[in-house]
Amino acid sequence: MKNFPTHNDHDKRLTAAGRSTTEMTEDTNSPNSPLDLLVSAFSEHDCLCCGPFEGDFGSPDDRILKDKMVTARKGGECHLCGQQIQPKERIRSMAAVFDGELMSYRWCNACCAAMAKSLYDDGEAWEERAALRR
Ligand SMILES: [Zn+2]
Repeated sequence: MKNFPTHNDHDKRLTAAGRSTTEMTEDTNSPNSPLDLLVSAFSEHDCLCCGPFEGDFGSPDDRILKDKMVTARKGGECHLCGQQIQPKERIRSMAAVFDGELMSYRWCNACCAAMAKSLYDDGEAWEERAALRR
């Protein structure tokens, strides 16, 4: 009789340990996890869905002339993180009119991935990229 409570406790501990191990395995090793896919590659469509200037359109004449994913022909600075864009890098390129002025912007590949991710992570990855500039 004396041994029963101890035995039961032991069983409980085993079950709890077994459960947490399973959860960890699912988080880190599942090849179909959407997060894993976003780390290795991102959807260019998702990236373009992210409006980097949402809410910043001040005048009714403001408009976007071009907004697409391109292969960079020359280097330059990324508008978000300030890092150098390498030639041949897959980047987002935008041309827009703001306050009557023609502006052009480019975002490096890592920032494009962060933009695509921002659809799912509330802009966390985006903030991380922006912090590189500061
Ligand atoms: Zn960047």
